[in-house]
Amino acid sequence: MSDADGEDWTLPETLEAVQTALVEWYEADHRSYPWRETDDPYAILVCEVMSQQTQLERVETAWAAFLERWPTTADLAAAARADVVGFWSSHSLGYNNRAKYLHEAARQVEGEFDGEFPETPEGLQELMGVGPYTANAVASFAFDNGDAVVDTNVKRVCYRAFSVPDDDGAFERAANTLLPAGRSRVWNNAIMELGGVVCRKRPRCDEGGCPWREWCDAYESGDFTAPDVPTQSAFEGSRRQFRGRVIRTLDEYDELTLDTLGHRIRVDYTPDGEYGRDWLSELLTDLADDDLVTLTERDGDTVARLRR
Ligand code: SF4
Repeated sequence: MSDADGEDWTLPETLEAVQTALVEWYEADHRSYPWRETDDPYAILVCEVMSQQTQLERVETAWAAFLERWPTTADLAAAARADVVGFWSSHSLGYNNRAKYLHEAARQVEGEFDGEFPETPEGLQELMGVGPYTANAVASFAFDNGDAVVDTNVKRVCYRAFSVPDDDGAFERAANTLLPAGRSRVWNNAIMELGGVVCRKRPRCDEGGCPWREWCDAYESGDFTAPDVPTQSAFEGSRRQFRGRVIRTLDEYDELTLDTLGHRIRVDYTPDGEYGRDWLSELLTDLADDDLVTLTERDGDTVARLRR
């Protein structure tokens, strides 16, 4: 594929393995939010509208209280607008217009759609105040019928893992190519979870057990910049990443000379360059000081082994 500027980028050929790895990782363990346990489009719409301006932790309380007070679209449609707006303000949920739109959307569902939500992103956009992002989220999470969600988390993951350029069209194409057909509910949850808890601004590739390490360009190169993380100095995770990579590589091979190890742990290793012998020697000396690695001189070369 190429982006708008003609720059080439590709997703791994083993797309199915990439998809399976992420879904299995998500299904094994993930943050549990009550709205992930429901496929009621009304409950999901309320959550999506609330989350636009409010932190998830606070949304949790407000969402439960809102649904207790107005459990269905019919209940909300029958409510007085002033009560809905009053609820919104008293829970500090941001612009009151959102409460008005939500109320109006419930009336539309009852009055124009016989009490049933439209099931496609296009149909959902007919509801008051429901833009493309919210419509797609409701279609995905309620009906398993959406396109890929492309938010800042998803962009960061695609940019790092597959070098997708910082271009909205490219992100959308990449995210939709990655999406396994007909599985938008689990997929969108999974990729947003990956960006939210592991591939964060400061990535937790190893600690978070990222399921995409074997395919990830950033993990390979050590460059974790992203559209919302413009410089490496925004975090100091890189050094720790490379410590982990040295240990894993030495665990796999009995012993390695400095340059062989260097080439195995980073693609931009050049013996005399910025990330070369001096950089690696310093890293290995630290590891030796921590009793994790032994270093010996042999035939003018430094040889590293894991201390077992
Ligand atoms: S390996 Fe690291 S940088 Fe790559 S996708 Fe996973 S968490 Fe993000």
